[in-house]
Amino acid sequence: MTLEAEPFAGKRVLVVGMARSGMAAARFLGAKGARVTVSDARGRSRLEPEIRTLQALGIGWEVGGHRPETFLKAECIVVSPGVPLEQPVLREAAGRGTEILSEIELASRFLRGRIVGITGSNGKTTTTTLVGEILEAAGFRVQVGGNIGVALTSLVESSASDSINVVELSSFQLEAITSFRAHIGLILNITPDHMDRYRSLAAYASAKLNLLNNQEAADFAVLNRDDRLLRELAEPMAAKRFWFSTRIPVDQGTCLQDGALVFSNPGRREQVVRVEDVRIKGRHNLENVAAAVTVARLLGASVESIRETVARFRGVSHRLEWVRQIRGVDFYNDSKATNPTSAQRALEAFEQRLVLILGGRDKASDFTVLSPQVGRRVKGLVLLGEASRKIESQLAGTAPVTRAASMEEAVRLAFGQADPGEVVLLAPACSSFDMFRDYEDRGNVFKEAVHRLQ
Ligand code: ADP
Repeated sequence: MTLEAEPFAGKRVLVVGMARSGMAAARFLGAKGARVTVSDARGRSRLEPEIRTLQALGIGWEVGGHRPETFLKAECIVVSPGVPLEQPVLREAAGRGTEILSEIELASRFLRGRIVGITGSNGKTTTTTLVGEILEAAGFRVQVGGNIGVALTSLVESSASDSINVVELSSFQLEAITSFRAHIGLILNITPDHMDRYRSLAAYASAKLNLLNNQEAADFAVLNRDDRLLRELAEPMAAKRFWFSTRIPVDQGTCLQDGALVFSNPGRREQVVRVEDVRIKGRHNLENVAAAVTVARLLGASVESIRETVARFRGVSHRLEWVRQIRGVDFYNDSKATNPTSAQRALEAFEQRLVLILGGRDKASDFTVLSPQVGRRVKGLVLLGEASRKIESQLAGTAPVTRAASMEEAVRLAFGQADPGEVVLLAPACSSFDMFRDYEDRGNVFKEAVHRLQ
């Protein structure tokens, strides 16, 4: 390895958080010769497998709280996305000049090839997956990682100078980047989410906009023209700006024209995909496709290969996933609708009347934004989980409400209210942690309950 690959040798590094990205960072840094300690606030009983792995790797660990000495001794601190940077102990370390970075930043310093960075409040995983599939089919050497579940540090080794690294990024991951540079930075949308963690919408937006910070003139920023905040907030930038829109024409980017997504680059317009060939449901998914088309064309993927992949793409599980039809009622699983905006978009994707299963753990969200869609399309609301009472009062008068104590009961109650030709939709607008391990567990429990219906 070259000299620049050794900056961590012998360095005392603290990794905060023993989840997937923290463990990957620790492993990565250990292999680079750093003296690593991993710290986690959770107790030992919940971390036995992680501790065993670290021990086997000869990496230090500390659980059941963060000791200030450990933070202050570290020359560099790698924070996991779940760890707020505002914590006093982190602030103090930063004040003393300790470098604080995210696992993404760490990986990006070693990763070979170009980076396509994808962020947004909603649509990241769908779009990241689609971009990855398009580029792969078009013959690029592609790696997909980041927030999508594959830690970026684990992709460093397999990266090469001609790699395209397609990286899904959450706002948390973008908070602690300093030199991370995306050749293409895609921001899908900025709508309220995680308001329990951010001081204001502006603070949340600013974390997302970090994605464009280190871009240079040869890079591209791909932004949603239909997103009010993005239109207003995107400041002058070094990169070339391309827009996508499903509502208005754009002359540099992708928009809807005569029933097709059309990509324009000054001096050139080309029809890429017809709307009728897009199989994923709803206008929001058309936005995701428009964004993916823009990225793929900027990288030089052929129109034909983009068209073929888009026409094959059926989306990702737990995102408006069709489950089953029973006695004329269609069941859809949108368990990943973990904020009001995504639930709104799910409701807009249907023409039919529907029964909506809503609720879970509140993230200081405003559920009143759902009122218009609920009033128009929803014939019954089935509420589940901790946020039930708040949702019931915020949506009072929009649709009849029933409450369920379990997903099984919610599915039965919803089915009981739906007539043939209608839809039962799980789009909870909340996180799942009150009753489930995560949104996947919630979606799977929903699907199992639906499959048990007779
Ligand atoms: P993320 O990775 O940002 O959470 P996903 O692709 O996993 O995004 O989708 C999350 C939720 O948001 C799902 O309920 C999905 O149906 C919905 N969604 C997908 N794309 C968009 C979009 N562009 N705008 C709004 N909601 C979207």
